[in-house]
Amino acid sequence: MKINSDIIDTIKKSKCIALFCHTKPDGDALGSSCAMKYVLEKIGKECDIYCESKIPEHYCYISNYKCIKQTNDKNKKYDLAIALDCSDKKRMGECAKLFDKIPFSIKIDHHKTNEQFANLNQVEIVSSTCEVLYYVINQLGVELDDNIATCLYIGLASDTGCFMHDNTTSNTHEIASKLLEYNIDINKIHYYEFKRRTRAQLELLHICLGNLSFALDDKVAFIHLKLTDFEKTGAEQSDTLGFVNYISNVDTTKVAVMLSEEKPNLFAVSFRTNGTVDVSKIAETFGGGGHKMAAGAKIFGGITTVKKKITDVCKDFV
Ligand code: AMP
Ligand code: MN
Ligand code: MN
Repeated sequence: MKINSDIIDTIKKSKCIALFCHTKPDGDALGSSCAMKYVLEKIGKECDIYCESKIPEHYCYISNYKCIKQTNDKNKKYDLAIALDCSDKKRMGECAKLFDKIPFSIKIDHHKTNEQFANLNQVEIVSSTCEVLYYVINQLGVELDDNIATCLYIGLASDTGCFMHDNTTSNTHEIASKLLEYNIDINKIHYYEFKRRTRAQLELLHICLGNLSFALDDKVAFIHLKLTDFEKTGAEQSDTLGFVNYISNVDTTKVAVMLSEEKPNLFAVSFRTNGTVDVSKIAETFGGGGHKMAAGAKIFGGITTVKKKITDVCKDFV
């Protein structure tokens, strides 16, 4: 993969860099941001990571995740902004305001649906932002180490569903293989990323699966959670990560939909498919986006109305 040399030159000549990852960050967003922070500090840059959301504790295995900031409270001046894994600007949430104030910007991403909102944009349709970043680091001439390799591995593993989704290529495996030459605790990463459950999370899952419903001859499956379900269980929004996977492999189902109420009547919607439909197109009709097999959007309305709106759009796809 060839990285735009202007991106490499710009990074090299910048002094103080702000990195941005998307709200409700996943392993790829955090992995790419934290890897980049290690890389930039290795070449003498000052660097902070911004994310609107509070970072879930289960990312404790990323050693520098605690220094991620939500606001620029010291009014620090940055000469370069780099957005990682953000398909469009609104994925940065409130942090987009700081991004806009910084004189020059770069976007590094891998989303099929994307907005080229930075001065320089490197978007490659590969497994993960971490896969693109691997080449950026290479071209910057920075040697990997245990910390950087761990962060990049998290991004690859999490966006490929542990190398099971069809965005996994021989290249992805080749990079993973190079990363595994370093000291990476894959047991710990896989445990926190794919296996660990808290009691609150299981109780939330119990409620969520209790709301299972189908539409269009079982071609569309829904599960949902309301704000009150989070209150009842003491679980957080980030605890829903992966819930949609429970319904995405029903044999009759082409589109799996998980709705999670984030604010009164505002639902974060996750779309998944078994591969027969491009769910990024469905998400786009609601102002969202993502990938062919996994996409998301935010939709206003009561639960019945939102499900009806989605069913109506799905009629054209399934
Ligand atoms: P999720 O269902 O939250 O795991 O997201 C699946 C994919 O859709 C990810 O690649 C996200 O980047 C993308 N995505 C999720 N929510 C949104 C949104 N509101 N707007 C655009 N893309 C989204
Ligand atoms: Mn992501
Ligand atoms: Mn990603």
